Amino acid sequence: MNMKINKIDKNYNIYTNNNIQTKPVKSASYTSYPMILTNGLNNLALINKVMFTGQNYDIGLNRDELIKRTMPNGLLTITLLKNDSPEYTNLADGDKQALKHLIKAADAIAEVELQLDDENNIPFKKYLEKEIVKGNPDAEAAMELFKGQKGIFAKDLLFNEISLAKGLKQSPGRGVYPRDLSVEEFHSILFKMLDEGKDKEVKNILNQRSVVVRNGDYLKGIDYVDKFKKEFSIAANELEKAANVSTNEDFNKYLNLQAQALRTANPMLDAYADKKWASLQDTPLEFTITRENYEDKMTETIFRNKKLLNRLKKYGITPIAKDFLGGRVGIVNKEGTEFLKESKALMPKLAELMPFKDEYEQTISADNQAMVDVDIVDVTGAVGEYRGKITLAENLPNSDKLSLKIGGGKRNVYHKSMRDNKFKALQIYNKVLDKSQIKYITPDSNHYFTVGHENAHSLGPHHNDAKLGEYRNILEENKADVAAISFVDELTKMGVYTNAERKGILINFVMSNFLKAQPDNSIAHRVRQVMQCKYLGESGAYEIKNGKVHVNIEKVVPACKKMLKEVIRIQIDGDYDAAAEYVNKNFVWTDDMKFVADKLNAETSAYNGTLNTPLADFLRNS
Ligand SMILES: [Zn+2]
Repeated sequence: MNMKINKIDKNYNIYTNNNIQTKPVKSASYTSYPMILTNGLNNLALINKVMFTGQNYDIGLNRDELIKRTMPNGLLTITLLKNDSPEYTNLADGDKQALKHLIKAADAIAEVELQLDDENNIPFKKYLEKEIVKGNPDAEAAMELFKGQKGIFAKDLLFNEISLAKGLKQSPGRGVYPRDLSVEEFHSILFKMLDEGKDKEVKNILNQRSVVVRNGDYLKGIDYVDKFKKEFSIAANELEKAANVSTNEDFNKYLNLQAQALRTANPMLDAYADKKWASLQDTPLEFTITRENYEDKMTETIFRNKKLLNRLKKYGITPIAKDFLGGRVGIVNKEGTEFLKESKALMPKLAELMPFKDEYEQTISADNQAMVDVDIVDVTGAVGEYRGKITLAENLPNSDKLSLKIGGGKRNVYHKSMRDNKFKALQIYNKVLDKSQIKYITPDSNHYFTVGHENAHSLGPHHNDAKLGEYRNILEENKADVAAISFVDELTKMGVYTNAERKGILINFVMSNFLKAQPDNSIAHRVRQVMQCKYLGESGAYEIKNGKVHVNIEKVVPACKKMLKEVIRIQIDGDYDAAAEYVNKNFVWTDDMKFVADKLNAETSAYNGTLNTPLADFLRNS
């Protein structure tokens, strides 16, 4: 029986699609309700609504949705390091002590990210907590989802927009612009401020580290450090405590620099901390405050307003999207890191293979690119938000950051724990991919590709990135993907990969571009996958044979090399219009993609995922 429950009122009435039951019934859905929820089922009388700090919240998903999304196969769970894992138990005592403080620092960063993401996140979370105390099972389920996506809003694996709070929509300005600010008003205020000589204030509004608030008829940017003084002080204190006990001197220097940057609003302090951080290669522990600006949809609107953009140019102001923050705590994995070091040694050779290489300077040489493979204790805030995907690796700082201008390098951190878990989810290719090709895909296929992708971010032109506006990230991700694949044949010749590994990488790459549903154009990472899927299809790199995808292996690398040339050209020129045309031409959801999406959907019922963090929880409580 497939009953849809829409609502349960305080008289135990269950409102279904078209009838009312007077008592809770045991339906198929009820019996499969997760254990944690059944405890509260006797308290169905409780209604969801409650007043909180003047806000009226309600849970945005009905019970039926909550059930299917919190069942084990609906919510993929990635388990991070456990407290009895040798990685942890073999640590020196000082490092064990330091981890406790690092987790607390990461938690403080998470509190900031909740606010940057949306002003309702924390009040809504408190609302759920109160409801759980009252025994409301819907609130328990909603909280489980909230903890996975780390906020009210997410796009799930099918790109459905999920709002856990009824009636509440995600704002393009997230939590970093006023919710009631329209694009038109935003632009007209900026014009007015420039007219009145307030260009300094405008500069504070359009940088990556300020929350924008109303200031009478104007706007004003408040530096994150001033805005989140309380949370940043907590984080700084914990980092200093960690620095007092951890065994690695370099790591401790970084922690102290990072603490200073959290205490005083001065971008140069961040640059010093980032520079030191990026140099860390042989430390036992890993800690990062991640700062990336993919989420802010407000600042990027300026790039569509040529008049405003030109006006800003006269004042030397380049608008940069706001940073969203995450905290990462982990233990460096030595074996995995060795492989990364080997791949790093090849970077200068790969730089020679880049198209139009004489027209730009490679921003990164092999000397200032650190790489570590990390067993993750916890990822908090933006880096741990499971919103249809979870980060597998992150190469920071990004090109908008000051540290790169004072000679700082980059550091790439691979999340070993994530990829070990992710491979289990790959089984879905069984019914979708040509049977004779499945055997080549191993957990390493995706890892090798990810390493290639991350390394490729360090190659190619970056001097005109800012001119590409909202297309910047899409093109950069696209470049990293197709560059990674372009090198596979050369790397195989060099003996880095075996022939079988090469096939696995290429087949896995083609398959990874097939999505479960058509995304909209707001997610850089997904847009480029559709673009690549169309391009690969047109290039004959795959075809649908007998209802399954067959990868034409020898056509994959040539197709990617061709695409790489196109994207690099646009990046060199910083040509916004060419970027728009390139993306629109290739961002097409084809019949083949739809066919495969339907098959993928038939194979899995997952909607989203969440993290299970035993060691982190143990450290928090000890
Ligand atoms: Zn990337």
